[in-house]
Amino acid sequence: MDDGLRSNAGTAQFDSAAGAGLTLRGLAPRPAALRDGPGNVPRPTRRQADGGGFDMLIVGAGFAGSVLAERLASQLDLRVLVVDKRPHIGGNAFDRYNDDGLLIHPYGPHIFHTNSSEVVDYLSKFTRWRPYQHRVLASVDGQLVPIPINLDTVNRLYGLTLSAFELDAFFDSHAEKKSTIETSEDVVVSRVGRDLYNKLFRGYTRKQWGLDPAELDASVAARVPIRTNRDDRYFADTHQAMPAAGYTRMFEAMLSHPNIKVMLNTDYRDIVHLLPWSHMIYTGPIDAFFDYRYGRLPYRSLEFAHESLSQPHYQPVGTVNYPNDYAYTRCTEFKHLTGQQHPHTAIVHEYPRADGDPYYPVPRAENQALFRRYQAAADLLAHVTFVGRLASYRYYNMDQVVAQALAAFKRLQVAHDLIGAVRAADSVLDTTAA
Ligand code: FAD
Ligand code: UDP
Repeated sequence: MDDGLRSNAGTAQFDSAAGAGLTLRGLAPRPAALRDGPGNVPRPTRRQADGGGFDMLIVGAGFAGSVLAERLASQLDLRVLVVDKRPHIGGNAFDRYNDDGLLIHPYGPHIFHTNSSEVVDYLSKFTRWRPYQHRVLASVDGQLVPIPINLDTVNRLYGLTLSAFELDAFFDSHAEKKSTIETSEDVVVSRVGRDLYNKLFRGYTRKQWGLDPAELDASVAARVPIRTNRDDRYFADTHQAMPAAGYTRMFEAMLSHPNIKVMLNTDYRDIVHLLPWSHMIYTGPIDAFFDYRYGRLPYRSLEFAHESLSQPHYQPVGTVNYPNDYAYTRCTEFKHLTGQQHPHTAIVHEYPRADGDPYYPVPRAENQALFRRYQAAADLLAHVTFVGRLASYRYYNMDQVVAQALAAFKRLQVAHDLIGAVRAADSVLDTTAA
């Protein structure tokens, strides 16, 4: 009988809670057939007779790992070890005060926005919020114009005085109609035409991804809307706010449960065979987990050039994009995001890189096909749940990762409850037999 717990993102299903192997506080070990499987896949270590060790080994202290740690500890009373190879919690959303006392985002600007009330309600247990609407200007032809493209962008770039109604006609007259929209080039050119595409999208995308927009899925450029009104907010979500005391404080609150232990500066591979655990949540790159057995998934990296300036302000909005000039894509001034009052200011320029930390999965059909091979291998591992942007190889925003982690928790909870019920029934049968 398969006693496996299939909880991997997107393919979750619970097969059966019955079976002889349910010795661990509620979560099943993987099926015997996989116990000696190929490669270096870590397996659960037997828990100590006194019940010591951990129910859950969570790899990664970012949103995916921290949400699951908090839920599993607080709702199921499980003992959780969170391991991260970095020296801090929070993953890429980590923030800290620099030497001048300015709150910065070491891994680039992180602006929280979502349409999910469930995600907001959940995170609000751990933080208060500071309302913030992000605005971005693009430096084009010697002027700063709003991006996403809106009425003011077009009027300023072409010296026009169009109304919103006339702008629709302007777009229609310039658009190159396509029968199918497959690439990021298609998305923009088919809506606003080639000139605006060249001014605002082509150069930025080539820098950011090292690929032409024609080589990237439509979903990449489709992240940025195109508007005919004068709305100059970067996001249109119903909830847009920053954690009032920063992301790291929010993560500290999530992880402060007595059932949760956090081990930093530690690659999970260094401890996975040393500590007893029953089920793993893995939030790192999925190809690394499998020792790149099918080859490497492409990830795009960035180099962040941080500066602290002895002046109170640097630029008029949170971020200025440079689609056509310089080696960097954008410059962000953190005080706009954080609302901090300070006589100095901190900025960061982002330089795209082919090598380095894996920040962006690269949305292309061939990469998705390779990911699906890894996903199939992951689906066979009943003792590991893969969650998060790198483990799912999806260009997820923070709120999407929180939603994915909450959904994974619900599946684990169902399995946990079913296993508990089976164990309770077993003990009734044992008592009756005795
Ligand atoms: P991560 O935050 O990457 O966490 C994974 C963790 O796993 C890392 O800390 C890593 O060190 C750890 N790990 C990996 N391998 C191992 C190992 N072998 N052993 C131990 N630990 C390991 N989203 C938004 O919503 N708004 C934004 O404005 C925004 N801006 C962004 C800007 C940039 C430059 C980037 C790169 C991303 C941005 N995002 C933004 C996306 C956001 O960062 C992610 O959605 C989110 O942080 C993903 O969380 P995660 O837990 O899946 O992954
Ligand atoms: N993009 C662009 N020009 C811009 C802004 C965005 O070409 O001024 C494209 C680019 O390909 C980018 C993608 O749209 O990678 C998504 O932009 P977003 O701001 O969402 O990127 P992120 O904040 O995730 O880096």
